[in-house]
Amino acid sequence: MLWQGRRESDNVEDARGSGGGGRIVLGGGIGTVILVVLYLLLGGNPQALFNSQQAQLPQSAQFDNQAPRDDASKFVAVVLADTEDAWNAIFRQMGAQYEEPKLVLFTDETRSGCGFASGATGPFYCPEDRRVYIDLGFFHELQNRLGAGGDFAEAYVIAHEVGHHVQNLLGISDRVQAMRRRVSEDEYNRLSVRLELQADFLAGVWARYTDRVKHVVEAGDIEEAMRAAAAVGDDRLQYRSRGYVVPDSFTHGTSEQRVRWFRRGYETGDLSQGDTFNAREL
Ligand SMILES: [Zn+2]
Repeated sequence: MLWQGRRESDNVEDARGSGGGGRIVLGGGIGTVILVVLYLLLGGNPQALFNSQQAQLPQSAQFDNQAPRDDASKFVAVVLADTEDAWNAIFRQMGAQYEEPKLVLFTDETRSGCGFASGATGPFYCPEDRRVYIDLGFFHELQNRLGAGGDFAEAYVIAHEVGHHVQNLLGISDRVQAMRRRVSEDEYNRLSVRLELQADFLAGVWARYTDRVKHVVEAGDIEEAMRAAAAVGDDRLQYRSRGYVVPDSFTHGTSEQRVRWFRRGYETGDLSQGDTFNAREL
C-alpha cells in the first residue's frame, strides 16, 4: 500500500503509555481548542500555551496529538483518513452524513466507554463512546504468530473496526443488541457472526473505494487483507457497557466466510450486497 506522505487523520488519540488516561483528556480537548483560540486572539504564541499546559497536566492525562508520530502511528492515521474519505463519500451518496470515529492507540491496557481492555483483547470498537481501540502490539502478533503481516493486512483490521462504527451509525448494532435479550445464547451468537461478517464486507467496500479512487493499493495487497481476514478468527468485539472486556470466541465466522464477505464487498462496492442478516448462505 502506498501510504507515505498522504493525509493523516486528526482523529487518532495516542494514549500509548498513558495507562488508560485517554478518557480524562477527551474532556480537555474542546477546552484546549477554546484556550488556543482565545490565546491567538490575544496575540500569543500557541506553542507556549501547549508547553505550559502540558507541564501542568498529570503524566497519565498527557495526550499530545501535535507530537511527531512514529511510522506505525502515522500509518494508522493515514488508513483512518482513507476510511473517512471513503465513508464520507459513500454516506453522501446515500444522502446521509458520516460521523467520523476517533481511534485510540494504546499499549497494554486502556479504559474505554465499554469497560477496561488489555492489549490481549485485540482491536475493538466501542459503540458507547464511538471509538476504535488499537493496540499496535496486535499487528506484531498478526505478522509473527498468525502469519498475516503486511501493511494492507493491518489496514484491513482498522477498516473492519471502522465497519463496526458504520454499523453503529446505520442502527444495525442497536438492532442486534436489542435482540440479545429476546433470543437464546446460540441464536445471539449466530447474529454476532452475521454482524462480524458484515464488518468484513464493509472493510471490502472500503478497500474497493481506496483502490479505485486513490490508486494506492498495490499488487498483492488484497490477498494480504484476505489472509488477515482468514487469520483473525476473533477480534473480540465488545458490546458490554461496563466491566471487563471479555473475549467472545466463536462469534466471528469461519476463515472462509470472512474472506468471502470481504471479497464480496471489494468486488461489488455495493452496500445492498452486504445484508449478511438475510443471506441464506454465509
Ligand atoms: Zn469485529
